Amino acid sequence: MAAPRVAVVGAGLIGLSTALCITEALPSCPITLLSEQFSPNTTSDVAAGMLIPHTYPDTPIHVQKQWFKETFSYLFAISNSAEVSEAGIHLVSGWQVFKNPPEDQVPFWSDIVLGFRPMSAAELQKFPQHRHGQAFTTLKCDCPPYLLWLEKRLKANGVQIHPRKVADLWELHSEYDIVVNCAGIGARQLMGDQQLFPVRGQVLKVHAPWVKNFIRDGDGSTYIYPGIHSVTLGGTREKESWRLSPDPGTTKDIFNRCCSLEPSLQQAQVIGVRVGLRPSRSCVRLQREVLSQGEAKLLVVHNYGHGAGGFSVHRGTAEEAARLVRECIAALQGSSSRAKL
Ligand code: FAD
Repeated sequence: MAAPRVAVVGAGLIGLSTALCITEALPSCPITLLSEQFSPNTTSDVAAGMLIPHTYPDTPIHVQKQWFKETFSYLFAISNSAEVSEAGIHLVSGWQVFKNPPEDQVPFWSDIVLGFRPMSAAELQKFPQHRHGQAFTTLKCDCPPYLLWLEKRLKANGVQIHPRKVADLWELHSEYDIVVNCAGIGARQLMGDQQLFPVRGQVLKVHAPWVKNFIRDGDGSTYIYPGIHSVTLGGTREKESWRLSPDPGTTKDIFNRCCSLEPSLQQAQVIGVRVGLRPSRSCVRLQREVLSQGEAKLLVVHNYGHGAGGFSVHRGTAEEAARLVRECIAALQGSSSRAKL
């Protein structure tokens, strides 16, 4: 049987990293990446890219922990290589602060980030409105650089990349044997998945090179994440809002909230305001499906619905999706040898 032809739909963080895992696992498979939008016009380009996991209520914690561990180890290795500056990855230390004792004193990811510990009384003096806190070092992916680095690796591995909006996965069945769906919030229309909904997020990019530590209000409502060239200030979480234009009142509110955590930001210059729609679901949809019309079949692997935590788990879910593609290939090989008998 000829090597199965694989199409990956979506060129955000999830599509690019999934295509990369597939080419690494199955170098002889011809892979094509199809997408309506590319960097810098994806949700992934808007994100701060911090590795601080979000919890998916319907995914077992040990699975989420494994995804985070695989992602952290992968990026940590890049952060220790000569690739680091081109890939836009860096280590960042800082604080997650709480007004009341945190529900989760020792989060499931605390032994994966580096040096997790309760904040000292001296550190807490920096945050007079907060009484509790956690200090740790984690990783951050700056976008677009990280997305462009993934795209460059795909091209080097021979992946074909084409702009194309896919209206229905079935339209790909005559050209491809396996389709991997990484369409983010686009999967709502593509699959009619009513469990997938947008959570609108607005962020500011500011020039404040003196801010070196991240600061996150424990409920995730306000955050200051320093990157390589700018600092991301956030945020908002508006369920079911599809509005992509920034709201000026929200910009002011985010700026004021961040200044109350880090007063030196009063001197920061705002260089951009962006909005993204987090593709949210109670669990990531990471599973195989067989689409069929009469005798014709199309094998599909879904990998979407990463919500507020795509960066934190992307490599882990991409590796799982590549394993599912391998299972599809085994199923195809099984059916072709049965057909010969
Ligand atoms: P996208 O980046 O939206 O990519 C989807 C791709 O599919 C696009 O290329 C699109 O054009 C394509 N597509 C869609 N429909 C079709 C179609 N029909 N045909 C062809 N192509 C199609 N996560 C973290 O872990 N840490 C953070 O600090 C963080 N901060 C965030 C801050 C904000 C403000 C926001 C909005 C999100 C944040 N996230 C964060 C979440 C993270 O950004 C997402 O989980 C992640 O980007 C989702 O990636 P994706 O590839 O699934 O989606």
